[in-house]
Amino acid sequence: MAILKTSAIVLKTWKFGETSKIVSLLTRDFGKVRVMAKGARSPKSQFKGCLEPLSHINIVFYDKKTRDLQLLSKTDLVDAHVRFMGDMTRTTLGFAAAELIDRAIIANEPQIKVFDLFADVLSAINRNSGFLEGLLWFFEGKFITLMGYKPTWETCLECGTSLGTKGGFFQPDSGGLLCPACGAGRGGLKINPGSLEILYWLQRANPDEIPRLKPEPVHINEIRKMYDLYFKMHVDLKKGLNALDFYYEMKD
Ligand SMILES: [Zn+2]
Repeated sequence: MAILKTSAIVLKTWKFGETSKIVSLLTRDFGKVRVMAKGARSPKSQFKGCLEPLSHINIVFYDKKTRDLQLLSKTDLVDAHVRFMGDMTRTTLGFAAAELIDRAIIANEPQIKVFDLFADVLSAINRNSGFLEGLLWFFEGKFITLMGYKPTWETCLECGTSLGTKGGFFQPDSGGLLCPACGAGRGGLKINPGSLEILYWLQRANPDEIPRLKPEPVHINEIRKMYDLYFKMHVDLKKGLNALDFYYEMKD
């Protein structure tokens, strides 16, 4: 058994027994880890205030390779993201990113870049106001790139023509778009040039600039649908992200 130290972000928690919690964490050095936090729900718990979903913490835990559930020993709060408290927009966007990570990545494989991306995006959601959903789109685009299945957005899958001024038809099973000529009569989700422009811009944007975006409703719909279809196909999310269902209902 090893005693390990790392940074972590709380993805999800479950009540266990009378006073404990089971916690799913994305750790910086050891990937997704599940820990038992004994006594975490008792008022005098040493973990108090550290195990709320989306909290950024430092942890010490006992790791035994032969078991799935590790034992949490110590926590220190790095960032509680205080502006998430009582704010449904920030919370549901953060939960959607956490849910995607929890469902899409395999446990116990180091995910340093995913961790740093997630921490950056949560901080940006916390400190900014405006169109915060753009930060989730930014996260989703970078996340699928890190996972190795970034869609081909720039050029037509079939004839290679550049799509920036034309738009196209998104084909989630082929991992990209067809230009209007190749895609005619073949179905797929219609994507306007304005939506592509936003997706291209997000790939190189600074997170603090993103909430200033003011996308048209048509672009919001296309980008939401495109990610949704893509995750269902490539990340095995048969059902979309629960947190997003809630977010869309709240925003409509
Ligand atoms: Zn084409």
